[in-house]
Amino acid sequence: MEYRSDGSFETRLYRLEGSSEAGWRVFRNDKLHLSFGKGYVLLRARSCGVCSTDLARRFLPFPLPQIIGHEVLAVDQANRRFVAEINASHRSLGQDQVECAYCDHGLPTHCPQRRVLGIHDLPGGFGPFLLAPRKGIFEVPAQLSDATAVLMEPFAAALHAARTILPREPRSIAVLGTRRLGLLTVAALAAERRRQDLSFRLIGLSHHENLQRMARALGADEATPPPKPPITQPIADIVVDTTGNPQGLELAVALADKEVHLKSTHGQRAAELDHLTEAVVDEIELGTFQSTAPQSYGRLCFGSSTRPIVLWQSQEPVPEWVDESMDCVQEKDPDRARSALARQRPELPAADLAVVDHAAGVDRALRPWPSQEEGLVRARGRIEVNGISASDGPLLQALAQRNLELSTSRCGDFKQALALLKNDPGLSRELPRLITHHLPADQLSEAFEIAQGPDSIKVVVEHEPLE
Ligand SMILES: [Zn+2]
Ligand SMILES: [Zn+2]
Repeated sequence: MEYRSDGSFETRLYRLEGSSEAGWRVFRNDKLHLSFGKGYVLLRARSCGVCSTDLARRFLPFPLPQIIGHEVLAVDQANRRFVAEINASHRSLGQDQVECAYCDHGLPTHCPQRRVLGIHDLPGGFGPFLLAPRKGIFEVPAQLSDATAVLMEPFAAALHAARTILPREPRSIAVLGTRRLGLLTVAALAAERRRQDLSFRLIGLSHHENLQRMARALGADEATPPPKPPITQPIADIVVDTTGNPQGLELAVALADKEVHLKSTHGQRAAELDHLTEAVVDEIELGTFQSTAPQSYGRLCFGSSTRPIVLWQSQEPVPEWVDESMDCVQEKDPDRARSALARQRPELPAADLAVVDHAAGVDRALRPWPSQEEGLVRARGRIEVNGISASDGPLLQALAQRNLELSTSRCGDFKQALALLKNDPGLSRELPRLITHHLPADQLSEAFEIAQGPDSIKVVVEHEPLE
C-alpha cells in the first residue's frame, strides 16, 4: 500500500529487482519508478511502527507516492531478525571509497547523498519487502522480544536526545507530550540516569491520565498536565518538546528555564519560523549572539580544522574578536555566500556558525533556496540571532531576552540503543507496554486513524508470514 500526497493509502503493484551487488530497480505498476545503486539488502518486514513523522509525511519535502514506514523489525531469508538504520549513507552502504565530508567525519546520518528508509524514496516497512543499507542492519539479540525490537528506531532517537542534553548537567528535565516519542524519551532519560548515576528530576507533561501513569512507570518522578498559559515561571531547566505540533514548541519555550530540546519534524511553520523542521533534520542549535563575551566557539570546529567558519549575515558590524578567532564570511546573498564558504572549505561549503537578524534570517540560513534541501550552515552547526523585533515570535524573544537555547536532535545510534537495552532487562521488558494496538498490514488506513486518535500510544502494523 503506497502513501499518497493527500494522506491516503492505495494498493499498487510494486516489484523490486536487483541485488546488493548490482543495485536495485523499483517498478510501480510495471513502470520503472526508482533505481538505487549497490549496498542495499532486501529484507522482509515482520512488523513496523507508526510514528508522528508518518502521520505528517505529506508535509515533508520528499516525493510521493511512496511505500513508507521506517520503524521496522525485519527478517532475512534465514529468518534472522534485524533492525535497520534508516539513513542510507555512503558509510552505511559500504561505499567507503567515496569522499564525503559528513561520512568521513563521523556524521553519516547527515550524508548529503542519503536516502531514508520509508521516508525518502526507499520502500519502507509498511510494505512486505524493504531495502536497507547493508552496513546499517543489526541482528536483534535473542533476549529482546519482537515487541521491544520494533521500538528500536524511535528508542535510538530518544536515547540520542538524552545523550545530547545530559552533558549540560540539568537539575530538572520536563518532557512535553508524553505519547509515542515522549514516553520513549522519558524511558531513555530514566535509563541514562540509572546507568550514569545522575540525579536530575524527570517530569512528564501530558493531559491524559493513562499517559501520565505510563510516564511514571517508565521512570518519571512526576507526571502532570502541562500548566495552562499564561505561564509565569519555568518549570524545568530543559524542556524536551515531542508534541509534534507547532503549539507545543511555544509552550515548551515558556516552560523552559535554560533550553528547549526539539524533536518534532512536523514540517509546518512554528514560532514564526518556516524551517524549524529542517533545523531538526540538520540537528542545528539556535542561540543568541553574545556581543560582549566571546564564548568558546572551539567546539564548533569541524573535522581537523582549528577555527570555526562563521557566516556573518547580521546588519551589525563584525566585532573584532570574531574576526580574530574565526574565519569570517560576510555575505548576505546566498549564492555568493556559498561560493565564499566553498573557498574556505571546498569539501563542505557551509558555515559552522551563522549570525543573523530576525526570524527571516534564521530561515534564510537554514534553507535559502526554494525547493533545494540545503542550508548555509552545516549539520550539527549553530545559528545565533543578533537582532530581533517584536514580530519575531516567542522563541526568538526568549533566545534574546532570557538567553534560552534551542537544541535539536534526530536519529540515533542502533548499536548504542541495542547495548543499553541488553544491559537493562527491566527497561526492555517495560517498553512493549507502549504498543497499544497491533493491526494487520492490509489495515494501514485504520492503523493511521487509530494512531491519530487519543486512545493509542504506539500502533504497530504486522505482516503475515509469507507461505
Ligand atoms: Zn519514527
Ligand atoms: Zn556520505
